[in-house]
Amino acid sequence: MTFFVSHLYNDYAKMNELHRLGSEIAVHSVTHKADVEHYWRPGELHRLGERGSGHEGDADEVWFYPEKDIKGFRAPFLEVGGNDMYQALYDNGFSYDCSWPALQYTNWYGEEPLGALFPYTLDYLSPQDCTVGRCPDALFPGMWVAPMLDLKDNRGEACAMLDACQGNETDCADQNCEDNVFKFLKRNFEYNYNSNRAPFGVFTHHSWFLLDEINESTAHTNGYLRFLQYVNSLPDVYLVSMDRVLEWMKDPLPVMDLGSHPAFTCPTFDPESDCPDPITCEYQEGLPDPGLKEVLMTMCSRPCPKNFPWLGNIDGN
Ligand SMILES: [Zn+2]
Repeated sequence: MTFFVSHLYNDYAKMNELHRLGSEIAVHSVTHKADVEHYWRPGELHRLGERGSGHEGDADEVWFYPEKDIKGFRAPFLEVGGNDMYQALYDNGFSYDCSWPALQYTNWYGEEPLGALFPYTLDYLSPQDCTVGRCPDALFPGMWVAPMLDLKDNRGEACAMLDACQGNETDCADQNCEDNVFKFLKRNFEYNYNSNRAPFGVFTHHSWFLLDEINESTAHTNGYLRFLQYVNSLPDVYLVSMDRVLEWMKDPLPVMDLGSHPAFTCPTFDPESDCPDPITCEYQEGLPDPGLKEVLMTMCSRPCPKNFPWLGNIDGN
């Protein structure tokens, strides 16, 4: 799987563990600041990529993660930032963006669907419809777009992420709701599986699973797990991270040969965690938002940074 992570409240020990076990870690900005109108939209997206010389003083929403194998990006609120955003990703060595919802290019939308888009590069101008934010009209050769194919929720409305998908009877505690979540995911998967077989993504924030707690239910979690078990039972379906999908796009072997494709073989990993003794750093002062009283940051290395690491001081000096 691919985890698009942001920095505030991130648990770096868990992130490290997910990565060690074979999941991909990708970037979902440092702040995930909840202000689309004044922060993300105005095109101040030099924020995204200004590295300058050294760290000090740079506001840099993308480049907070030192890991060399960070390849992918998702814009907060899917607010695609036009050429500026793609330029920043390009300049910072990212290989793909996964922020751009596709509605017209799905296998279900409209009288005569245009067909679900496969991931593609910006070597040519994209035909993809632009439903959120500003979409690029410059070329970025070799830069991949992994389109977020809109799902069709149980009302018949489009949604790019599960958090936005609604419908009758998925937010309750009875078995019916779990069944409805499962059927909703399966139906959407089948739009691709029974048609052009474009890679099918299920995207969600963690909060979608937390709704179960509010609803005193297990419908979302169990319906989702049932869906994973169902697709895993199909002999020609692979559950993979986005970076592996793109490796396959570069070398699209037929399904009978996929077992030997490097992108589809499970990597071996050390059974011992390489972060056996994480520490939790506590910060009450100097926090980036006056509304924050305390921030905990769990991480693998020692010692805790003196200050909470943030834009302009990513080492927390
Ligand atoms: Zn988000």
